[in-house]
Amino acid sequence: MSIFRFNAVEKASNRKAVEASTPDQKVSEYFGENVFNQKTMQKYLSKETFKALTQSIDNGTPIDREIANHVAAGMKMWALEKGVTHYTHWFQPLTDGTAEKHDAFVEHDGNGGMIEEFSGKLLVQQEPDASSFPNGGLRNTFEARGYSAWDPSSPAFIVDDTLCIPTVFIAYTGEALDYKTPLIRSIEALNNAATEVCRYFSDDVNKVFAYLGWEQEYFLIDEDLYSARPDLSLTERTLLGHESAKNQQLDDHYFGAIPSRVQEFMKDLEVECYKLGIPVKTRHNEVAPNQFEFAPIYEECNLANDHNQLLMSVMKRVARRHNFRVLLHEKPFKGVNGSGKHCNWSMGTNTGINLFSPGKDREDNLRFITFIVNTITAVYKYNALLKASIASATNAHRLGANEAPPAIISTFLGTQISEILDRFENSSIEDAIEVDDKKRLHLGFGQIPELLLDNTDRNRTSPFAFTGNRFEFRALGSSANCGSAMLALNSAVAYQLRQFKSDVESLRAEGKSKEAAIFEVLKNYIKESKPIRFDGNGYSEAWKEEAFRRGLDCENSVPLQYDAYLKPDVIRMFEETGVLSRKELEARNEVKWEIYIKKVQIEARVLGDLSLNHIIPVVIRYQTILLENVTRLKDVFSAEEYETVSAEPRRLIRKISAHIAAVTTKVDEMVEARKKANRITDMREKAIAYHDTVAPYLDDIRDHIDDLELMVDNQSWPLPKYRELLFIR
Ligand code: ADP
Ligand code: MG
Repeated sequence: MSIFRFNAVEKASNRKAVEASTPDQKVSEYFGENVFNQKTMQKYLSKETFKALTQSIDNGTPIDREIANHVAAGMKMWALEKGVTHYTHWFQPLTDGTAEKHDAFVEHDGNGGMIEEFSGKLLVQQEPDASSFPNGGLRNTFEARGYSAWDPSSPAFIVDDTLCIPTVFIAYTGEALDYKTPLIRSIEALNNAATEVCRYFSDDVNKVFAYLGWEQEYFLIDEDLYSARPDLSLTERTLLGHESAKNQQLDDHYFGAIPSRVQEFMKDLEVECYKLGIPVKTRHNEVAPNQFEFAPIYEECNLANDHNQLLMSVMKRVARRHNFRVLLHEKPFKGVNGSGKHCNWSMGTNTGINLFSPGKDREDNLRFITFIVNTITAVYKYNALLKASIASATNAHRLGANEAPPAIISTFLGTQISEILDRFENSSIEDAIEVDDKKRLHLGFGQIPELLLDNTDRNRTSPFAFTGNRFEFRALGSSANCGSAMLALNSAVAYQLRQFKSDVESLRAEGKSKEAAIFEVLKNYIKESKPIRFDGNGYSEAWKEEAFRRGLDCENSVPLQYDAYLKPDVIRMFEETGVLSRKELEARNEVKWEIYIKKVQIEARVLGDLSLNHIIPVVIRYQTILLENVTRLKDVFSAEEYETVSAEPRRLIRKISAHIAAVTTKVDEMVEARKKANRITDMREKAIAYHDTVAPYLDDIRDHIDDLELMVDNQSWPLPKYRELLFIR
């Protein structure tokens, strides 16, 4: 067995960098060449079709069949010219990851031959017969009546020989079965609510966009080492493995020189991304060994999320060319940092204003304060929901576990913004708001400096930090679909902005002036939302206690965190914003609980197998060697001497025997716990049982095996060790 390990280690350490194939052209010349973007559309569509399509996209109005036919014909012509043979509706089911079912363009031509066919009907709607995607009981599987529908706001693209059409995935009864549908609905809700609030400050705003800039962290591992670790291959995380003597203590990986194998991988990946129109911008090493990050320039939220989904699959493919595997799991290795996916989120108007940018000019500052205050108020009211939106079995190893930041949502604003809010709260209206001759409203106490952008005042421990012109939601896991968190955030802020407008309007109806009404409402919100503001160390023990006292959600169990989706105020919020219905929320929670169960179940099975069939046999063999050693010592030494010279091997045998007994007993108990949990039919109860009674064995068994790793002869240990896995040369 250990031969497998040493072969893998040898192969991995002798591996040479595979040179990236970079085009001769400049990036600007080939950027988006595999995307049916504006430029390509103008070439392949008639003027009228192009105009009708862009209008529908801008206004979110339906596209009629005739236009769809024209678009499909143009797309087909473009795709065929690029050697494409198949097309697929590309969608984002609730499993995380994307789904596609490829169909060839060919159809019978009616004369015994074949023609390439792609009509508007095929572009617009398909029934992928995706009956085995999780749906929480919304669709009866025997009916299998879910369909995918074209999302024209995200352009089609080519991967390999396939034209991919971004689509939503919906049940025939209208319920969303994916992330994209509610994400689009939430973007629309935010647009409507934010536009109305903008009008208090200027009348030229008629659309507000949500923007997203994600930062994708990931680990790379050599493919031979990956194959030699069944736990990595099957669960994407190491279920065993003692920490390496050296890992990240010296901080020598972060922003260090990128190893050449990785450098070539990154170059290849960037080229692929550029061709697909993904504007990747930064690449660097992350804190942990073998950990890296990719980040693009931010884009409109729906498109940015599609690009992140696409990146995750392209990464995996490109990595293979370089004999790597990508690990998107949040915590592949114990004892070193996990991987997140920071989501930088902001709102901007059609007039080009970033609503979170304090701006150089006085005109913007009261509007800025209004959007900041409403956002933190929404985060305060829905902190449990936002946490649920990023909760998963895998992300739980990053949040709320032993070596991780706590699973508590708070916001960091920095001293400057905090001071302004404090001052606002304690001022009179005369001091706080100025009205100019043109009746425009300004913040009374001067200008807000262009702040934070210089990075001086950053708190990296905050899960939701204001970073100068955007908020950075840092609690997302690296494997997540950003849609889950973004749709919760967009909806909560949309609902809060509606509340703001209605509060202001009720005061005006009582006869108060616009500025007095805005002043009073903001002041109340600043008071109300105070518990969510925390500028201290979010990783400290003291914060856990403090957060609990403040009434923030401190639930650590993932299955119970999901309950936040079904609280009456959350259901009301989602229903009134039109983003998700109660039925959808209930169904989606069933899916979440089920995925949680399956993840833990698979890990438990893999660990059981590794323990009993890989580790224990090796340990027993080593124990036998020690026993033989002891017997021989007896033959050679006098009884008295024997006592001394055999003391150490005998002590070791005892320790090893105790661990063997513990591992085997605990594996048995874990199997029993699983059987018991499997008899529960209610999904929520079952997930709770897996969390409370099965998952703890994973850590417990691991501890014993990790101790054994330090006792057993290195030559016979069957699995690559952390020091072998973690340092790419
Ligand atoms: P850091 O690691 O310091 O947080 P990065 O440069 O890695 O910063 O990532 C910043 C991300 O934030 C990028 O994706 C960037 O495009 C995005 N971003 C910058 N400004 C905005 C904005 N106004 N709205 C949304 N995202 C933004
Ligand atoms: Mg960041």
